[in-house]
Amino acid sequence: MGERVLRSPGTSLAHVLPGIFVTLETAYGPRGWWPLPSRAGLEARDADGYLDGPSETLGPGGGRERSLRRFEIVAAALLAQNTAWTGAARALLAMAAHGCLDPIRVSAAPIEELEAMLRPSGTFRLKARYLRSMAQAWSAIDAGTPERSDLLCLPGIGPETADCILVYCYSVPVFIADAYARRVLSRLGLLPDGLGYEAARLTVEPACPTDAAWQAEAHALLVEHAKRHCRARPLCPGCPLRNLCEY
Ligand code: SF4
Repeated sequence: MGERVLRSPGTSLAHVLPGIFVTLETAYGPRGWWPLPSRAGLEARDADGYLDGPSETLGPGGGRERSLRRFEIVAAALLAQNTAWTGAARALLAMAAHGCLDPIRVSAAPIEELEAMLRPSGTFRLKARYLRSMAQAWSAIDAGTPERSDLLCLPGIGPETADCILVYCYSVPVFIADAYARRVLSRLGLLPDGLGYEAARLTVEPACPTDAAWQAEAHALLVEHAKRHCRARPLCPGCPLRNLCEY
């Protein structure tokens, strides 16, 4: 295992990032986020609800149908917090089976029923309350493109969830500096070790294209890479970034 060092100050993030993501996309293929299990097998989605192709973003407006799709992504982002995706996906399918992937239905449903649907996602009592708060605020949040600060005011919405919502629902090109992204980029020598979410986002974002679809795919690729190779104990043999890595 090598010592983690930051690349020389002359190494520009903007210079190396595009090549890193091209390498990851070549290795793993387009990721087709955000996965929506309730739409599996529909709309060019596979059996797990991933798009057959690059990740997409929705953007604001577009009527009720598109608003419901944004709400489903928001629910997925909330339910995926601190749990395995399989649990969140089961909870989303339970919501779909009850016709509850709809903010009006979530606002009206008895909290006990909501909790029962969300049970597979862990901390379901808390998540039921978070989801209900989001549903009650939905008409204001989804009236246009929400400010990041508006999202952060809502219970259960931290910076990572807010940024996922901004990218995938509203096509705002922010960098999602989650723990996976920080781990990979720090091992590559592009971020200092131990940087927090906001500091990492503010460091990386100016080096990225101002393109929400690029951010959507970049996030999905970093998650894939962190799960396949750059784990807590990294599996460096066979890693597609090995020639670029300073770890
Ligand atoms: S898995 Fe790849 S990116 Fe991660 S530390 Fe090893 S060589 Fe570097």
